[in-house]
Amino acid sequence: MNRPRRSKLVLLAIFCSFFTPVVWADGETQPGRDPKQPVDESYTAKMKKYTTEPFFTSPLVNYLPASKNVPTPEAVLGDVAGAPGILPYAEDVYKYMRMLEKTSPRVKVFSIGKTEEGREMIAVAISSEENLKKLDENRAKLGKLADPRTLKMNDAEADRVVTQAIPVYYITGTIHSPETGAPTALMELAYRLSVDESTYVREIRDGIITLITPVVEVDGRDRMVDLYKWHLAHPKEFYPPLVYWGKYVAHDNNRDAMGVTLKLTENVLNTYVQWNAQVLHDLHESVPYLYDNTIGDGPYNAWIDPILADEWQMIGARNVADMTKFGMPGVFAHGDFDTWSPGYLMFIAALHNGISRLYETFGNGGADTLERTLEPEEYARTWYKQNPPLAKVMWSQRDNNNYEETGLLVSLHYFNENKRMFLKNFYVKAKRSMEKPGTEGPAAYVLPSDEVRPTLQAELLRVIEKQHVELSRITSPVTVALPVKKEKKTNKTEEKKDAKKDEKPEPTSKTFPAGSYVIRMDQPYSRVADALLDHQYWSPEDPQKTPYDDTGWTFGELYGVQVTRVTDTKILQSPMERVSELPASGGVKGEGAIFAIENHAEPALAALRYRLKGADMQAAEESFEAGGKKFAAGTILVKGVERAQLDGATKDLGLQAIAMSAAPSVKSHPLRAARILLLHSWLGTQTEGWWRLALDKLQVPYDYASTQTIASTRDLREKYDVILFPPVGWGGSLNNIVNGLPTEWGNPLPWQNTPETPNLVGQNDATVDIRPGLGWDGVAKVQKFVNDGGVLLTVMDTSQFAAGIGITIGVSSSNAEKMKIAGSVVGTRVVDGASPIAYGYGEKVPAYCDNGPVFSLSSIAGSRRRRKLGPEMGERPTGRGTKDDPDFAVGRQGMEAPDEPEMEIWQNPNVTDEQRYNNSRVIPPAMRARVVLRYADAKELLISGLVEGGGEIAQHPAVVDAPFGKGHVVMFSINPVWRGETQGTYSLVLNTVMNFDSLNAGRKNDEK
Ligand SMILES: [Zn+2]
Repeated sequence: MNRPRRSKLVLLAIFCSFFTPVVWADGETQPGRDPKQPVDESYTAKMKKYTTEPFFTSPLVNYLPASKNVPTPEAVLGDVAGAPGILPYAEDVYKYMRMLEKTSPRVKVFSIGKTEEGREMIAVAISSEENLKKLDENRAKLGKLADPRTLKMNDAEADRVVTQAIPVYYITGTIHSPETGAPTALMELAYRLSVDESTYVREIRDGIITLITPVVEVDGRDRMVDLYKWHLAHPKEFYPPLVYWGKYVAHDNNRDAMGVTLKLTENVLNTYVQWNAQVLHDLHESVPYLYDNTIGDGPYNAWIDPILADEWQMIGARNVADMTKFGMPGVFAHGDFDTWSPGYLMFIAALHNGISRLYETFGNGGADTLERTLEPEEYARTWYKQNPPLAKVMWSQRDNNNYEETGLLVSLHYFNENKRMFLKNFYVKAKRSMEKPGTEGPAAYVLPSDEVRPTLQAELLRVIEKQHVELSRITSPVTVALPVKKEKKTNKTEEKKDAKKDEKPEPTSKTFPAGSYVIRMDQPYSRVADALLDHQYWSPEDPQKTPYDDTGWTFGELYGVQVTRVTDTKILQSPMERVSELPASGGVKGEGAIFAIENHAEPALAALRYRLKGADMQAAEESFEAGGKKFAAGTILVKGVERAQLDGATKDLGLQAIAMSAAPSVKSHPLRAARILLLHSWLGTQTEGWWRLALDKLQVPYDYASTQTIASTRDLREKYDVILFPPVGWGGSLNNIVNGLPTEWGNPLPWQNTPETPNLVGQNDATVDIRPGLGWDGVAKVQKFVNDGGVLLTVMDTSQFAAGIGITIGVSSSNAEKMKIAGSVVGTRVVDGASPIAYGYGEKVPAYCDNGPVFSLSSIAGSRRRRKLGPEMGERPTGRGTKDDPDFAVGRQGMEAPDEPEMEIWQNPNVTDEQRYNNSRVIPPAMRARVVLRYADAKELLISGLVEGGGEIAQHPAVVDAPFGKGHVVMFSINPVWRGETQGTYSLVLNTVMNFDSLNAGRKNDEK
């Protein structure tokens, strides 16, 4: 509709709004202060002073209303929010929020839990006095919309609640610690929401509850403030990057919404769900000036309700429109963030029937005012960025706070104006989640009670429980129909016939034993369980060529447990009971002083080994029978322990021990509580952080030290049995691991606790200077450690490092050229089940791979085997006869060529007689690499996610045991320990640890 008069009026209204707020007939309140309410003049003047351009503010934040009782952020900060040089600790932010609570009846502060290092997390509720008085009553109303079963799915009832309930808009700040602006912006926002009497803000306050967690990563925030203070005290020096954020991980703290392994995720998730909030809006800082990536880019997560995708569009577009009207440049939506992975904190809302939102604003990594020059792609105008950021500007923390607060205020206001629609959507999304079995399906996911890995099954079920999903168990066996797979059309009819010959007919039904776990999809939070347990497919043809994060995550596969996606709705009518607590199934059975524990690659076995340090534990190297029961190789035999003690430990851990009167006669070797060093580089600590978290959860003890300490350790082997060297991540090349950062200029970059920096170290590591690397003396020490019988376990880039320093005889490592495996679940196969590293695994092991290095084997020193390319090799040459006839030479007898053994790509290449003749370069068979796991064939490589050009890595070794001197280097191309999501492959690491001095068990050397 063309309404020129109206739009002129709007413009006029904006310019005049500083003095006269206008209320339009259609309810669209114009932003601007209440002329009757006095302004805090000195605060307002300072805000203006710190704002570097007049267009970096808006009519919503270019003034601060004055209040007689309620203190402004200046009371704690000593200056205004966003002032240069000021970054408050979390404690100061809380202090201010609690001052607000004390002085205003419109603010309430709630403690929502602690971090790993024991710091408090809070949520601040701001709304009208009346709304805050009936919080519980309102929560109950929202709870009805959140769980339509309470309304008997009655839409008319829901409509009635929708008109009465006050929605909750939850804002979370500073999950990423170097992104520093949010806490002060949120302090000031809380002040504005509680005191501003303008119509615009009053509508927000009366209409909705704003819930704020000003600091999500509290441990990291305090470290960041330390660093910034260090920088202020040493203005001319470089200051260290934030090496540690939280105790375990850095940037990845925003990838934990699936596995919920970090406290911050758990606390925000519980808060979100307990408040029955409609929105979760997470604040970040890495893009100029405000990127509302709520809409983002495709592909969208396939499990969200399309209603949510529409809500993203509505809110995002309106957000950009309002701020563009204020004349603020560089506000846009869309961009290159894809909304596929549900691992982001905001996605807690997306998969719990709410609305996920995320801002990227612009920041200087501290509170300095800096001249910032953008990259051309940042300031270029695009279809979705019609008013792009400027190429070069002075930028201040105040500018950041202006953008952040303006964006939030227009969002809150728009949300309030449309709250009935959003509340109804909240209900409809919950209802549609419950209707899932009858619509898109499935009906349920079932985890059978005869699972051979009950402890891993329990771990997976605990994740589902943490996501507030209800679990049930069937009380008697249930048979369900399985979906019939449609045959794919193919032109290669012959191939199809061939394939059909060996195929068994697909089963058409499946029976689950009594006690099997059922995750029903007719419950309000079915969506999150579905997203975690389903398979993912990212097409190589997808227009999105740069996936933002992992493309596959199927939890059942990565936990190594059976999960069946059941579409037959009959399962829902079967008798079942709700599970309130997962039953413990461990303990000792039978009589006798020798105990056998079956090995199914459960990480709990390692926990048991370390818990019962004094016990004699042996690993059976072969299968055996005892008491009429068959035990597989890898079974653990325990003696020298009190039955009661073992019973207690196994009950705790969920493991079953079987007592026997006599030790079975089977070849065995000791299973050790090896002394572990977890080695890290100061280049990056995040990826190894997931390893620390996994070991800590299992209570497997380890020393933690940096590459810098290796050179000065007198004798590594004397102190340690195993060195775990997890991936370094960004910058983890051989060069950087050894040489570190340049030390030829600049100053040392300390990571130490000092009076200036009391929080830096926390429970992690310290150094006087993070720059030096392992050094060449350190390389020699690592080499000596392995040579003396130690085991070095390397993963991805550290495998490249081990190959680079020459301690992986016969194994070379290179990067794939064109392959794209972007954080996917891939198939691997056990090649050598007799290797202790493979104990407990079946033939197929699903694993996490992120463009892992390609390992190649050689039996001759200095050469490297490559796959033979092209079909012509080995075929007959041009000559007489038919294709299958032997060739002939005229004038002599023919001679049959000796058979060349066919070697697979994961096998050590055959050494020919010619190669053996007087050849000192042949690697002795006992020193050749032993492949434990290989990647699956190309067509079976993809389980979940994106695999493009997988032929480069297909069939190549995925886990190799390379002997060196008296020790071993165990190299991983997959990453077995990742984001708490890959518990099924943890035992590849733990087996290596416990069998460190018996890795050659079951080894068969090549004949020649
Ligand atoms: Zn961020």
